[in-house]
Amino acid sequence: MRPDLMEILACPVCKGELTLTVAREDAGEVIEGSLYCAACDETYPITEGIPNLLPPDLRRAMEAEGAPAAPAHGSHE
Ligand SMILES: [Zn+2]
Repeated sequence: MRPDLMEILACPVCKGELTLTVAREDAGEVIEGSLYCAACDETYPITEGIPNLLPPDLRRAMEAEGAPAAPAHGSHE
């Protein structure tokens, strides 16, 4: 994503301002990094140049669904 996208990006939960942290940049584009909402104390990842601004609950649900097919039964009671 381009850093100037920050002007239009907002926290999906509170619509507040996000703080950009760049981990890797290429040709003026943010490739890896994170967007942080101080109001929600929530971090949204940027991977392969795409900011993931799904609400945290939905993102976690999708991550759980998209997990590799493995036995879902845990050993704990
Ligand atoms: Zn927020």
